[in-house]
Amino acid sequence: MQVDFRPRGIHLPDIDLWLDCTEDCWNTWMSHAHSDHAHGLHGRIFGTPETLGIYRERVPIPPDECPECTEMPFGQEVEYHDVRLTAFPASHILGAAQLLIEYKEERLIYTGDIKLRDPLCGVSTDVVACDRLIVESTFGLPIYRFLTREQARDRITAFARECLAEGVTPVFVGYPLGRGQEIVHVLCDDGIPTAVHGSIARFIPWYQRAGYRFDGWEPYENRATDGRALVVVPDFRNYLQASGKNIRIAYVSGWAALDNARTRVGAEALIPYSDHADFDELLKLVDRSGAREVDVVHGYTEPFARLLRERGLNARAPMPQTAREAAGEQEG
Ligand SMILES: [Zn+2]
Repeated sequence: MQVDFRPRGIHLPDIDLWLDCTEDCWNTWMSHAHSDHAHGLHGRIFGTPETLGIYRERVPIPPDECPECTEMPFGQEVEYHDVRLTAFPASHILGAAQLLIEYKEERLIYTGDIKLRDPLCGVSTDVVACDRLIVESTFGLPIYRFLTREQARDRITAFARECLAEGVTPVFVGYPLGRGQEIVHVLCDDGIPTAVHGSIARFIPWYQRAGYRFDGWEPYENRATDGRALVVVPDFRNYLQASGKNIRIAYVSGWAALDNARTRVGAEALIPYSDHADFDELLKLVDRSGAREVDVVHGYTEPFARLLRERGLNARAPMPQTAREAAGEQEG
């Protein structure tokens, strides 16, 4: 199958389907609902029910431009232009999915953003056998190695309890969708009173509808911090630091694998855990897929593709790393 890598997404001209197209197009697969993937007005969108639901909530769509949304629950096949499309879990955030495209004799997997380790709250990834793999490599260097789910959970709750015992407010910085809810879920599960920034709180009901519990959290709008952990978005950290409140910050991120993250984000505790795969997970994912052809997109594309070639695979980096990716400024 022909695969064209373009700045606005990946195009499959044989079946007229885009993968995560960032501009308006006729037909696209939407791998997950992060805002850098789930935007634009398209003619027809394929995605999991959660991804499409959050997209519709996030993007105000004029009624006369409402796209045709084809919901694809995990494992359910959809016929489209002579190919079979199937979504499989990617564990990145709620609803995130890989896409299997079966075309003639070829099986192609597009991972979207993915991790292999079990998420703090969400379903685990299925590694799907394929001939050709299009895989992300946000953390495709061996310096990026992360904690397991259990280790991350223990570090998060221990940090919160230590701070609270000293009369300090523990602050966790998370992204609005995914990491934020995972941290809140872990804190609530441990019985720690938790106040949540509105940008994160707005997506908690989506996780609750998927069956995850969030007992005892409250919106931060109440401004009460005594005896509570706070979960906020990155932009809010500066406000808190300037507010003179007695706080201590934990940075839960893949970027926290590097010591310089401490000064870069002003965090006292670094908890290297991500909704992306670390270096070892990426290698495992490629190995287990059985793919002989690999296209590496996003992040450290060139070095990761080179390493795969050294391991005997036909690997390419068709899209060079962006300046933003090189600076480590994308979510992770
Ligand atoms: Zn993402």
